[in-house]
Amino acid sequence: MKIEANRDICIGAGNCVLAAEDVFDQDDDAIVEVLEDHPSPDQETEVRNAVAQCPSGALSLVDD
Ligand code: SF4
Repeated sequence: MKIEANRDICIGAGNCVLAAEDVFDQDDDAIVEVLEDHPSPDQETEVRNAVAQCPSGALSLVDD
């Protein structure tokens, strides 16, 4: 599983960081930064929650 983040449509809501703070961060403009684009299996649930809670649809998961 690989995380893809579209920084052009991220609105900086920060939901992803709240859901998975070890996987996502925000830059100085509050735009998402992916710290770990290949999350470990034990991070999968929180990553899926983060994707589901993103209000802009900026996050997606793809198969490797
Ligand atoms: S939840 Fe979505 S809109 Fe909010 S910071 Fe994360 S990627 Fe951006």
